[in-house]
Amino acid sequence: MTAKRYNAKFFIAVVFLLLVSVIPAFSAEKNVSALETADRLGADLTWDPLSQEITFTVGNHTAQCRIGTPLVFFDYRETIIAQAPLMGTNAQPQLPAALFTQLETFFKQFDIGSFFRVGAILIDPGHGGKDPGTTGSYVENGKTIPVYEKNIALSVSLSLYDMLRKTYPDKKILLTRSDDTYPSLEERVEMANKVLLKKNEAILYISIHANASPFNKKPYGFEIWYLPTDYRRNLIDKNTASREIAHILNIMLEEEFSTESILIAKNISDGLEAQIGKESKNRGLKEKEWFVVRNAKMPSVLIELGFVTNPEEAKRLNTPSYLQKCAQGIYNGLTAFISRFERQ
Ligand SMILES: [Zn+2]
Repeated sequence: MTAKRYNAKFFIAVVFLLLVSVIPAFSAEKNVSALETADRLGADLTWDPLSQEITFTVGNHTAQCRIGTPLVFFDYRETIIAQAPLMGTNAQPQLPAALFTQLETFFKQFDIGSFFRVGAILIDPGHGGKDPGTTGSYVENGKTIPVYEKNIALSVSLSLYDMLRKTYPDKKILLTRSDDTYPSLEERVEMANKVLLKKNEAILYISIHANASPFNKKPYGFEIWYLPTDYRRNLIDKNTASREIAHILNIMLEEEFSTESILIAKNISDGLEAQIGKESKNRGLKEKEWFVVRNAKMPSVLIELGFVTNPEEAKRLNTPSYLQKCAQGIYNGLTAFISRFERQ
């Protein structure tokens, strides 16, 4: 929105307001405080006293208005309204009843109330069976100890699975594999597609892996990936392991992607940082790849727990207590995400 455009609309709106203000019925309606509006709409409220802007957010949808300005922006599209929000006597922003109704109508079209519920979580331990994934090793007491990605992924996935099952008896918590087997890509995809979900329920797809840097043993740390459309192509070129994952996600995600994936990734990243951030290192999210599309059917993230090619990290990744901390970090991130997004 440019300032110029805003001012023009503002001018038109003021004229409109002057015209309608002569009709007494308009002023007879009751105001609703911004707080009560948020409460009744099940929305998050952001109030910026400096800019005087009020923002209501439900899921991916927003309605923004400003004290004294007879405009509302529904998902960044402007609409002229009869009466502007005003400041109440108790320094609480107030919305005229007509504006409240407009907001209610806007949010209702998206089926708010049961806007987003996680119906299922599909945990995918990368690789397995004939496919060890990336491999590394470290030396302990003169012995070389091999470390396989498939084992790391399975160990963390099983712990995560147990924790999630206990916390969410009403959700479907699923694993693509629970032992050292190799489900084909088609089987993994089919598992996800076979999960029956109610309307407004989402399935979260959490793929767990470990990283490798074959020509430079120094890199270590964990990374969380979400896979926007543009990015998938880059990933395919990276290596065989990633190519498989990209293939799975390509099939599952189709064209759609969402802010949810980014938020899950962020939550998991924070969760892991709190657990293993000091021993290992948070390599972060790939911010420049951020790409937002609304209404993804399956928010998905891929977690690279660490580098098996770095001997110190390989040793950590072969330590059960460390893997338990990894699972705890992912669990904390997921539960934070779920409680943030599920609305009763
Ligand atoms: Zn992998």
